[in-house]
Amino acid sequence: MSQKACPLGRALVRVEQTLGGLAVFIFDAHIDTLSRLLDTGESLEQTSGHVNLSHLSRGSGAQFFAAFIDPAYYHGLAMHRAMDMIDLFWQMLDAYSDNLVFAGSAEDITRISNQGRLASLLAIEGGEALEGKLSSLRVFYRLGVRLITLTWNYRNDLAAGQFEGTDGGGLSRFGREVVAEMNRLGMLVDVSHLNEPGFWDVVQLSKDPVLASHSNARTLCDHPRNLTDEQIRALAERGGVIGVNFCPAFLAKSGQASIDHVVEQITYLIKVGGADCVALGSDFDGIYQTPEGLEDYSRIPELVGMLQEIGCSEALIEKVMGGNLLRICTEVLG
Ligand SMILES: [Zn+2]
Repeated sequence: MSQKACPLGRALVRVEQTLGGLAVFIFDAHIDTLSRLLDTGESLEQTSGHVNLSHLSRGSGAQFFAAFIDPAYYHGLAMHRAMDMIDLFWQMLDAYSDNLVFAGSAEDITRISNQGRLASLLAIEGGEALEGKLSSLRVFYRLGVRLITLTWNYRNDLAAGQFEGTDGGGLSRFGREVVAEMNRLGMLVDVSHLNEPGFWDVVQLSKDPVLASHSNARTLCDHPRNLTDEQIRALAERGGVIGVNFCPAFLAKSGQASIDHVVEQITYLIKVGGADCVALGSDFDGIYQTPEGLEDYSRIPELVGMLQEIGCSEALIEKVMGGNLLRICTEVLG
């Protein structure tokens, strides 16, 4: 699908994230809070993780919650694990309905964030959850899932993750069927974690713009989880979006990073792919260390001030903080 103007973007009333007089709608593409809560048994109110209810209630516009399939659940329990996290997601929305509301479309996102609540979107990280069946994909869609990260770091039924390297090959026959069916249903295909052959297969096959929900630029930090300039350009040319990941290991070779490294990634991605391809994909609750200055979810708005300081326009900051992600949701989810 080609790039279209976002009909909702203009009408969007900014959620109350104000810094330096600028109010910005914030939309993050990836957090692992569901798996963290399931593993620790903590509640969203009392968790000691990177993301809690008070962070999410303080005017964040929209958020993708990833149901991350840990390798411990591969080979038989992946779908069960996904179901447990989807159940937790819906229980959370029931428990905190004043703050968190399900969003399955761009229209939902706009309506809910206009009410000052968090538009909450559901994702699955790891195609293992499908257990090799397209029927599972369709059922997951009906349960609210609107994004699938095709692989984690290893090979599965669909494709190969980045740990497999280029020898791991590209999309399988089933992987191709999944991408086509996701296009038909209106789901975001996420290429973060994919190896390079898989990435190129998805980019060529997908009729819709493609998302890299939590990946950085490899030129700035040479890590296989990050994207080459060629990959960034290919995604951007097709209307795709890249969520900048806050994991220090993907920000700096030394593994020691600060908010400056995140800003550097944002400006580099804009330089290579243009202003319409950059978003946030914090990976909070999925990373063990955090950059200095971005210790938890509540710190995200500080990026607004940092981007202002280096001379980014209001329009550009709005795109990076959430506008671009909303635009791809408008194009793909409908
Ligand atoms: Zn991930």
